[in-house]
Amino acid sequence: MLREIKLATLRLLKGAGIFDLVGDSRWRRQRLLILCYHGTSLDDEHRWRPGLYMDPAVLEQRLEMLKHRNYNVLPLGESLQKLRAGTLPPRSVAITFDDGTYDFYKRAYPIVKKYGFPVTVYLTTYYSDLQRPVFNLITSYMLWLKRGQVILDGRELGLTSPLDLRTEAARHGIVQNLMDLAEREAMTGSEKDLLAARLAEFLGVDYKALVAKRVVQIMNASELKEVSEGGVDVQLHTHRHRTPEDEALFRREIHENRERIQALISKSATHFCYPSGVYRSTFLPWLAQEQVLSATTCDAGLATRESEILLLPRYVDTQSRTATDFESWLCGVGDLLAVRRKARQKYIPYQTELQP
Ligand SMILES: [Zn+2]
Repeated sequence: MLREIKLATLRLLKGAGIFDLVGDSRWRRQRLLILCYHGTSLDDEHRWRPGLYMDPAVLEQRLEMLKHRNYNVLPLGESLQKLRAGTLPPRSVAITFDDGTYDFYKRAYPIVKKYGFPVTVYLTTYYSDLQRPVFNLITSYMLWLKRGQVILDGRELGLTSPLDLRTEAARHGIVQNLMDLAEREAMTGSEKDLLAARLAEFLGVDYKALVAKRVVQIMNASELKEVSEGGVDVQLHTHRHRTPEDEALFRREIHENRERIQALISKSATHFCYPSGVYRSTFLPWLAQEQVLSATTCDAGLATRESEILLLPRYVDTQSRTATDFESWLCGVGDLLAVRRKARQKYIPYQTELQP
């Protein structure tokens, strides 16, 4: 109901010309909208995780709107310099994709190229090296493929309770149990992949076919080289998609991530994105010491000159957002109407999803 009221309000404002008025205002000109995307479906992933994956047709509609409504899409680094200097062009937008999944290469990149927009990919590197599906995601995806079933005995997989695949919560519980099992046994990435293969066999899913399709995998060296040479800006997202609270471990994540990116594309990465949007104030001096120039969160908002450069807000665009909601954020109305909550970080979708 609330959602409907909000949409009706937005339509009304749009119909009254308020979107254009705000979009062309001095207020909007002093602000930058940083868009955040994750996966673009190879197949049906947006039905499995509408908060994480988007149908390529929807992504194309978004970029079409940017073009059609005369938004100025700038490279991330340049847009932040201009934000600071107060020299942003009207209707400024920067586009970012988190994680660097293979589906970016296969689905999003051709669309991005078609529109000629500069984009940044925040790359997590562990699974780029390993070249196997991300364990937590592939197990979750396979359980979803078999949704509706109840399997009475999970002992073969080291799980005791019956496997109830009928609800998202129950499936999430099984993924959690598998992760705990992998942790207890101190499994390596390859061992976890064998566990995922055993789960597939148990469920009657063709694992080889999923691996060959590259579902929930990260781009490999040649794909990364190709997108980087094609103008995609590759930046930091930690090596293992985690932000340890211990300074040495946190900084190791940045070092390893940066080293891998340097080795892969021969460029130095200086912009950072918090995995799963999780941050703490203690991280800021550590990032500054690592010469990180900017860091983005998943907190909704437009960035201003006063924004903390290591806590920049973004608009997380997903399959479930309507075109009107998206457009309201482009022009700035969405930001004006947003309810600011004291406790931020409400976007913590799958905190550990991409961890090895
Ligand atoms: Zn991520």
